[in-house]
This record gives sequence, structure tokens and C-alpha cells, in this order.
Amino acid sequence: MTEKLYRENPYLRELTAKVVKKQYKKGAFHIVLNRTIFYPHLSGGQPKDIGTMNDVKVIDVYEKDNDIVHVVEDDIIGDEVILNIDWNTRFTHMQQHTGQHILSTVFSKLYNGKTIGFHLGSEFVYIDIDLPELKDSDIKKIEDFANKVVFSNFEVKAYYIDKNDVSNLPLRKQPTVDSNIRIVEINDIDYTPCGGTHMRNTGEVGLIKIRKWEKYKGNIRVEFICGNRALEDFRWKNSQINEISNLLSVKDMDSLEGVKRIYDENKDLMKKVKDLKVKLVDYEIKDLISNSWDYNGINIVSTIFTDTSFKDVRYMATQIIENYNSIVSMGVVEDNKCQIVLGRSNDIELNIREIFNDVIGIINGQGGGNPKMAQGGGSRVEKLERCIETSLKLIESELYNNLKPNV
Ligand SMILES: [Zn+2]
Repeated sequence: MTEKLYRENPYLRELTAKVVKKQYKKGAFHIVLNRTIFYPHLSGGQPKDIGTMNDVKVIDVYEKDNDIVHVVEDDIIGDEVILNIDWNTRFTHMQQHTGQHILSTVFSKLYNGKTIGFHLGSEFVYIDIDLPELKDSDIKKIEDFANKVVFSNFEVKAYYIDKNDVSNLPLRKQPTVDSNIRIVEINDIDYTPCGGTHMRNTGEVGLIKIRKWEKYKGNIRVEFICGNRALEDFRWKNSQINEISNLLSVKDMDSLEGVKRIYDENKDLMKKVKDLKVKLVDYEIKDLISNSWDYNGINIVSTIFTDTSFKDVRYMATQIIENYNSIVSMGVVEDNKCQIVLGRSNDIELNIREIFNDVIGIINGQGGGNPKMAQGGGSRVEKLERCIETSLKLIESELYNNLKPNV
């Protein structure tokens, strides 16, 4: 059985150990030592340590039959090795993990909320509490209490008890093992069975901050950060608030109000722009009709637009054929591509789709529609004018044929 020194002294960063077993599996060496400072990867809670064995990167650490197995890609020469763990990572894990003990006990003491889940990831740390409801004011109370525990700098102890003594301690949760029951105690405030690594004193946890909370599967999921991670979070948030307040020329505390003001102004402006756009399009439609060509009482409207979106042109085409006895053939150049829209009013006898099919190839395009309206786009911008002209010729010839008396 590997001696797990991370339990006795979680502050050990370097250790000499002896190789007990070495196996080569799937391109890596799986090494068991007589003792270790590497915390293994478990199914939940605290993540594994990262670090080196004789300067070779340890890529995984897992527990098997009470042994801790270290996985390295390069072979280790000799029976003795020097282990080094990445102390920043471990320290941050210990801060989050000890902070979790504190938060969980505060939820239990203030609201009788039981912690039913814990996740400590590289980005997020959260606990699930079996409470159906929570208010923002409750969160503030919990944060205040938890940070009081931090600032009081209580001692955090870990020790083993016999299973017969379990009932003598006010445990926050029951142990899942019958032997080697390890208790982590925060100065008579919290007793909980745990095999992880923790700070010696609550003060080392640093600030505990709840980032957000939400209802999750009938419980409450609370995302939080402690110590180094809280500092990092504060750093980027502070920097963003400073930038926002500088941009808006307001005090940092007035940033939200400043953003809300701009948001409302923007909404008003967007509405005004929309109203003006409708008026402009109406004006453009009238202009197009007055410049249209009259063919036996039918307005033939044809233009190529270079500074109007296809969406707007299509809208104008629809408005024209609905409100005027008309036929439209319009082209649009947009983002180095061209598009056309052809249409006619209801009462005009003309198959627009057929004409569209005859001309769309000119711009190497494709599209579709019905006998009343058709649209499509192509790549040959330089042929757009010819495409529209050809459509007009075909329209004229069809109209002429339709006007001819039956003989
Ligand atoms: Zn723990």
C-alpha cells in the first residue's frame, strides 16, 4: 500500500520515494511507489495533482487497490525517484476545497441545507445544496458568515477515528468507508469525513465569493471561488468596470446605470432609424414609379441598386407589385455578388418564373420562385446589366404576344 503523505502533510512539495512496481501499458509507464505526495484523480471532488517524477511529466495519477499509480510517458531509470508537485495548482485546489468545507457547513448551519454534490474543475467550482429556494439576501448572509470563518483563522485538522466513534462526533455527513475514517475538522465548527487535501488554517483560504447561483434539478447550484481564483476574478472584473466607466465617463459605481442609459438610448434610436427607413423606402418607391416606363397602363420598373441591401430591394419590389399595376425587374450588387428579383402584379398575365429561368444563367446564378415572383443570386456581377436588360426584352415580347388578338 502506498503511503499517502499528502494526507499527513499536504504542504510537502518535494519527496524522494522508491519504485515498488512498474508496468508498461498503452504507451506509458504506470509506476507504484512506496510513498507519494501526488493526490490521485478521483471520481468527484478534488482533481489530481500535476508535477514531475525525476523531471519527467506525470500525466495521470490514480488509485488502485490502495496503491497510488503514477503514469509517465518516458521510462524512469533507477529505483529511487524525486517527486515534485506543481505547488500553485495544489495550493489553489486546497483553497477551493477548504472553502467548500466552510461554505457547506454555513449552508448547513444557517439554512439546514445539505451539500449533495461538489465539483472542483480547472474553471468552475460549485456545490449542489438540497434547498428548493434561495434569495439573493440569503447568499449575502452565507458569504458574510463564510468569510467570518476565514477571517477568524480557525485551525483545520485531519485525523482518523474508529467506526465506533462515528456517533460521538456531530458529523455533517456520514462516512462512506468502515475503516480508516478520516475526519476533517474546522475548530469544532465542522466535522466531515474527507480524504482530500486542506489548508492548515481557514485564513489561508482567502476570500470566499459566490459568483452565481441557480436552481438545478430541484436543488440549488452555487458557483463559488476562493483565494487565488477570487483575486483573479476580481482582477478582470475590476479592469472591465474601469474600462466601461472610462468609456462612459462615469464613476465606476455608476457604470451599470451608464450602460442602461446607453442601452435605452440605442433602443430609441433603432426605432427612429426603422421609422425613417420606412419613410425613405416609401419615397424611393414613389421615385421608382415616377421614373418607370408605361406599357399600356403597366408600370415597368427596373433599376440596379449598388447601395441598398437585397432585403430592402425585395421589400420595395413587393410593395410596388402590390400597390401599383406593375412589373419589376431589379438587380442588386452586394458584397461582390449580384442578385435579381422579378415580379408582377396579380392581374397581369405573365409567367415571371419562366423569364427568370431564361435570364438567371447570364449571371451564372440560381434561385427560384413562382409565376408571380422570382429571385436569385449569381457571381457574374459584370453581366448583371445585361441580365436585367434581357429580362425586360423578354417581358416586352411576352406582353406584346399577349396583346395580339387571337386569329
Ligand atoms: Zn475535504
